[in-house]
Amino acid sequence: MEQTDRTDCRTAGPKREAPEEKASWESGVRRVVPYTPGEQPRRAGIIKLNTNECPYPPSPRVKRLAAEFETDVLRLYPDPEASLLVKSIARRFQVKEEQVFVGVGSDDVLAMAFLTFFNTGRPILFPDVTYSFYDVWANLFGIPFRRPALDGNFRLKKEDYLTENGGIVIANPNAPTGICEPLSVIEEIVSGNPGSLVIIDEAYVDFGGESALPLVEKYENLLVVQTFSKSRAMAGMRIGFAIGSPKAVRCLRDVKFSFNSYTMDAPSIAWGAASMEDEAYFQETVEKIKATREYLKGQLAALGFSFPDSRTNFLFASHESIPAQELFGALKEAGIYVRYFPGERTGNFLRITVGTEEQTEALLSFLRGYLKQ
Ligand code: PMP
Repeated sequence: MEQTDRTDCRTAGPKREAPEEKASWESGVRRVVPYTPGEQPRRAGIIKLNTNECPYPPSPRVKRLAAEFETDVLRLYPDPEASLLVKSIARRFQVKEEQVFVGVGSDDVLAMAFLTFFNTGRPILFPDVTYSFYDVWANLFGIPFRRPALDGNFRLKKEDYLTENGGIVIANPNAPTGICEPLSVIEEIVSGNPGSLVIIDEAYVDFGGESALPLVEKYENLLVVQTFSKSRAMAGMRIGFAIGSPKAVRCLRDVKFSFNSYTMDAPSIAWGAASMEDEAYFQETVEKIKATREYLKGQLAALGFSFPDSRTNFLFASHESIPAQELFGALKEAGIYVRYFPGERTGNFLRITVGTEEQTEALLSFLRGYLKQ
């Protein structure tokens, strides 16, 4: 992980008699260690299986709208309520519009939720192995946190989340493990914490996870966050959303409108709504990816890999004899990008995004050759 430069850049000059030496502007800087996103290749021909994007294009309805897009609308500020998009999400999930909050990718939605709900001074809780942005936001906003360890099989221990806390965030299915915890466990955590807001990050839920959305009507302290970046093939557009109680969504909106009113640009609002309305294309895309994932599981297992049972569009795979870091380097050299997270618990795994059938065959054919040597 990249470290920010924490050195003092004042030049060392001759020491003068200056007891009231002024502090440098740098002493007032907010120092943070930023999140490191997956690499975006700068050359053509890379097989990109490192950031869990969708390998298929967005709905053809998006393409049609993009072709017809009138740039004259860009003169005007976009609708600050993003009503068209909010309506399409509310309709799809059969909730009220006042239960929907939208943002610039789920990263924006999650960051706003941290800022809004985690304000007690008590530590918030999230697992030791999970999405590596959570601790970055906590540090940025000065929120104390604890990271209870997942068990030896990367499963959540629910008792860890039934202790005093200032809020909870759980990715379900989890990243980078791909594991989905049953809804009964999520419900116990939500119902056992009436004094905290619980965020369930469902970035990957469409690939076979069990969504907590049915619980939203029952628990005011639950916020479910999803994204257009994976199953809806629109990572480049940056659209995410949260569904929760009208009260929780009102709190989120108050913070968001104290920060930046016009986050959702006009194309995102129009094209996002069109994508949300194309249910048949969405289902077809998700089914293709799930079928390729199951095929990839079988082939990788035959090559000596093991992995938790993924309910996502990626596998978290470890090889019986070749260290993950070596495989990561060899794959990269061959133009196949996957994700590697160094660290005690994750350092012998590769997170491999499920690509198209052709990309999957290219990955397997490289691995078959490499592992034979
Ligand atoms: N949550 C999880 C668990 C993720 O893996 C990602 C993707 N990096 C996100 C949220 C954010 O996705 P986006 O901002 O593209 O919606």
